[in-house]
Amino acid sequence: MQQVKAVVALAKGEPVTLQTINIPDPGPGEAVVKVQACGVCHTDVHYRDGGINDDFPFLLGHEAAGIVEAVGLGVTEIEPGDFVVLNWRAVCGNCRACGRGEPQYCFNTHNATQKMTLADGELAGTELTPALGIGAFAEKTLVAAGQCTKVDPRARPAAVGLLGCGVMAGLGAAINTGNVGRGKTVAVIGCGGVGMAAIAGSVLAGASKVIAVDIDDRKLERARTFGATHTVNSRQADPVAAIKEICGANGADGADVVIEAVGRPETYEQAFYARDLAGTVVLVGVPTPEMKVPDLPLIDVFGRGGSLKSSWYGDCLPSRDFPMLTDLYLQGRLDLDAFVSEEIGIGDVEAAFTKIHDGDVLRSVVIL
Ligand SMILES: [Zn+2]
Ligand SMILES: [Zn+2]
Repeated sequence: MQQVKAVVALAKGEPVTLQTINIPDPGPGEAVVKVQACGVCHTDVHYRDGGINDDFPFLLGHEAAGIVEAVGLGVTEIEPGDFVVLNWRAVCGNCRACGRGEPQYCFNTHNATQKMTLADGELAGTELTPALGIGAFAEKTLVAAGQCTKVDPRARPAAVGLLGCGVMAGLGAAINTGNVGRGKTVAVIGCGGVGMAAIAGSVLAGASKVIAVDIDDRKLERARTFGATHTVNSRQADPVAAIKEICGANGADGADVVIEAVGRPETYEQAFYARDLAGTVVLVGVPTPEMKVPDLPLIDVFGRGGSLKSSWYGDCLPSRDFPMLTDLYLQGRLDLDAFVSEEIGIGDVEAAFTKIHDGDVLRSVVIL
């Protein structure tokens, strides 16, 4: 057992605070990781606001890279000193998905068995719920060994740590779920961190046109730097008509792949109608429970053909995708540094939450 400093959300909607927490020694199948960098994600804000569940207190932070400090019994795939990116889907190897050779869809992913706890004050001993089973706004954290993916140690922790969540979700929505390939036309609706990564992924995969759609001109400008070939401000122009016009030069009736990175019925409907016949819609934006599928005529669902897909975590398989994307980053073919808007301290997380809402930054990254 050891004690470290960590960012904790104690109660619904209250500002996060720095707390001392207890980290147990790793048990069988577990690892303690010394965190080097952890990105600030919108999901952390959702946890703080009680939007995910009520299992307070939450140990926040989940887009992280660090060094394995210790491993428990039976852990063979990693060892102390390894540089790893943390993932929130450690696959089981035994469920229906794993059994049929599709571990990226594992239905039984797992986290550490032991609990980290608060160390000080009247709440001492209270079990913490780590965000997405990680909890990495902390000097160290306890995870399942399968949540640690070894990557090339020459990579910058602040950059490759982002592969652990939002950037992987966007890259994978394009490359894995949308199957974007050479010559495809792609539209991305919503240019936050995930949408921006979907743009970068589409460019990486060889898309011929990459259309960025947002209501914020600053984000559209940023999308250009990530390789968007066209931009549409959907406050000023109908995005469906604009996408059809841009892709229509080749006789197409929309984009081959439309990636919805907002998670709202209105933008989903735009994505549905902005794709070409037999095209693909990928929903990677996360809706809230009360939202409903838009009132689409069933004849249009049938008549337009193609596929309507959802993308969990970019349908990534961390052991396959993290090392590969890290290599592309080190070769200068995937600019993960461009996602790091600022490096901040562990005490600056609450301020970084405000910046997410203002749309000023792509990612603030806590350096430990
Ligand atoms: Zn499984
Ligand atoms: Zn995240």
